[in-house]
Amino acid sequence: MSDVLAVAGLTRSYRQASVVIDVLRGVDLAVAPGEIVALLGASGSGKSTMLQAIGLLEGGFDGSIRIAGEEAARLDNAGRTRVRRDRLGFVYQFHHLLPDFTAQENVVLPQMIAGAATAPAHARARALLEALGLGHRLDHRPSRLSGGEQQRVAVARALANRPALVLADEPTGNLDEATADVVLAEFLRLVRGEGSSALVATHNERLAAKMDRVVRLKEGRLA
Ligand code: ADP
Ligand code: MG
Repeated sequence: MSDVLAVAGLTRSYRQASVVIDVLRGVDLAVAPGEIVALLGASGSGKSTMLQAIGLLEGGFDGSIRIAGEEAARLDNAGRTRVRRDRLGFVYQFHHLLPDFTAQENVVLPQMIAGAATAPAHARARALLEALGLGHRLDHRPSRLSGGEQQRVAVARALANRPALVLADEPTGNLDEATADVVLAEFLRLVRGEGSSALVATHNERLAAKMDRVVRLKEGRLA
């Protein structure tokens, strides 16, 4: 099967006043179907910059980004929105859940936006949350959940539309070590169970080692 993600020659520079920082200097990366890849790098190495480019969240970069076989780097806004909605799921360091909606509603909403009917969207949200041990928290708002529970809801939301590729930027970076281990293990189990691929940015060697493959971002390139 062809790669879920194929990045070639990705470059990104930031200009501040007269200073230009070359954050990405020609990044190449392929992720196979079902593969979970750790993107390991020190703080400031460009992990978030790389995920923002692949997530089609930001322009200003050069290179090729093929997502599920489609060249996505130079799509217009509507095309980017379509690829993000149909192919990608996102998990961030902070959960970014909608505060006025319940856990289940937070997982239902992206499905409704993608055109799902109400009943199956609720059933899928429930199944995902139950798989993450949150069956008893469906009707809780985010403020009533622990940090680990909030992040599990964010994981369920990311997988709601059966994305080919989940992009996770320090998904457990806001949790204590013990909770981070548990939530990451559940994230990996769910991604594997769903048959999705994932690219997971972390600065933590120990967490990176739990994934199928580790790539290291250093001085703007992957090793
Ligand atoms: P990481 O996620 O690995 O910590 P980032 O991708 O956030 O790294 O940042 C990489 C480098 O790019 C850093 O030197 C950072 O200061 C710089 N940078 C990130 N975003 C911007 C921006 N919007 N404008 C200018 N510099 C930026
Ligand atoms: Mg970052």
